[in-house]
Amino acid sequence: MVQRMLKFTSLEREMPEKRAADERADDFGEIYRDYARTKAAEQASRCSQCGVPFCQSHCPLHNNIPDWLQLTAEGRLREAYELSQATNTFPEICGRICPQDRLCEGNCVIEQSGHGTVTIGAVEKYLTDLAFEEGWIEPIRPLAERSESIGIIGAGPAGLAAADRLRRGGFQVTIYDRHDRAGGLLTYGIPGFKLEKEVVMRRNAQLEEGGVKFVHDCGVGEDISFAEIRESHDAVLIATGVYKSRDLGGPGSGVAGIVQAIDYLTASNRKGFGDDVPAFDSGELNAAGKRVVVIGGGDTAMDCVRTAVRQGAVSVKCLYRRDRTNMPGSMREVGNAEDEGVEFVWLTAPKGFTGDATVTGVRAVKMRLGLADVTGRQTPEQIPGSDYTERCDLAIKALGFEPEELVRLWDAEGLELTRWGTIKADFRTHATSIPGIYAAGDIVRGASLVVWAIRDGCEAADAIAERLNAAAKVAAE
Ligand SMILES: Cc1cc2nc3c(=O)[nH]c(=O)nc-3n(C[C@H](O)[C@H](O)[C@H](O)COP(=O)(O)OP(=O)(O)OC[C@H]3O[C@@H](n4cnc5c(N)ncnc54)[C@H](O)[C@@H]3O)c2cc1C
Ligand code: SF4
Repeated sequence: MVQRMLKFTSLEREMPEKRAADERADDFGEIYRDYARTKAAEQASRCSQCGVPFCQSHCPLHNNIPDWLQLTAEGRLREAYELSQATNTFPEICGRICPQDRLCEGNCVIEQSGHGTVTIGAVEKYLTDLAFEEGWIEPIRPLAERSESIGIIGAGPAGLAAADRLRRGGFQVTIYDRHDRAGGLLTYGIPGFKLEKEVVMRRNAQLEEGGVKFVHDCGVGEDISFAEIRESHDAVLIATGVYKSRDLGGPGSGVAGIVQAIDYLTASNRKGFGDDVPAFDSGELNAAGKRVVVIGGGDTAMDCVRTAVRQGAVSVKCLYRRDRTNMPGSMREVGNAEDEGVEFVWLTAPKGFTGDATVTGVRAVKMRLGLADVTGRQTPEQIPGSDYTERCDLAIKALGFEPEELVRLWDAEGLELTRWGTIKADFRTHATSIPGIYAAGDIVRGASLVVWAIRDGCEAADAIAERLNAAAKVAAE
């Protein structure tokens, strides 16, 4: 089999090389800053101020993009930053990882007219990184302290955005998370080459310094009961995300070398933090020197293939049962993966695995697209007799996530769920069926995006504040 050349050499993966590059970057810091400023102004000045800001309406936070682009183009960078952060709790994070090709940039009028989008995300990231550098970021200092406390379960973007908003309003906020670091999928899911972990840790530190209390290594339903949390707080926000990985059965599915995407990515991110990760060191969750097949076509699959390339895989293939046009992942990410040497095997579905003790291949079958279903998407059908084996030493299953069974695990009687197992919540206030309990982010939407989690977290925080303010007013009368 001819192996494609992967673009990342072992030298590029070496940490000493990275350190040397960082040092060089320090030397050239001033030049880089000037360059970044010029690039941001250049891009911002490409905005035609079209008057029909589809970019804004397609941003889930309705960021005032044309106005902060104009301010950037005029060199009024602090004002541009102030405006961009007025609607976004974590602009530097969205600027880095929003699938802009499906949101703001994909709807830029200049992009639509074939001249290439204004790089809105990059400008947003630049402004907030600059704000941190220049000390424009205000610490969280509430004008007055409030006695009411809110318990937030889950320190992902939904929980963190809500915590930020509530703490600024003076409320006492405690976040419980089963992990040892805050950030949710920002910390342990999304790879560091897309979102540097210092950027997430900087926000965690800002919240902690602002008085948000973090209770780490605390699984609700395991280390503390949901009832205890309810008793300890005036309101509770559930922001636990969705973590039950969809699985793949079939012959051979129990052999070693077949792993879940979330385990693989978490191990890689933990290694990046310098943690001790035995399953990585043993090779179980490490792609180095292996032929890797990733099964799935979403953004998680893209993160797996690109991580495998960086770990030094011999070859990386992505198996997806539909074609490129029908792929759920970001086209930009597909392009990035292809540039790095990943091979996409379209219209191919897994049927099982080969190998006795360890996986040696994925048994696959070729597909064709049949009639469209109710959503308008063409249904893939197997082509009889087209079975074959895709050789591999590591198979990564990236088939999506479902919610955990919270009502049963938490003994949360009265908490209504949808038929998909997500929590039923009011789409505006995020109130659940239990008074005083709110829910936000993926646990309500199903697997979604960071920017939506931020929006939900902010809206839930506003509704909680409104409820507590109303109760305080009644008590004072
Ligand atoms: C691999 C991967 C890559 C992604 N890439 C992108 C991307 O590039 N751009 C993008 O916009 N979106 C991306 N997403 C989606 C995005 O990460 C999620 O939509 C977003 O993080 C959801 O935020 P959340 O706060 O609802 O949940 P999460 O980020 O999942 O956070 C939930 C938190 O709750 C904690 N928790 C769960 N259960 C319990 C419990 N019982 N007790 C205590 N704590 C608990 C978890 O430890 C976690 O910290 C990606 C998702 C994955 C899996
Ligand atoms: S938050 Fe996301 S969608 Fe909105 S402007 Fe920023 S990058 Fe675009």
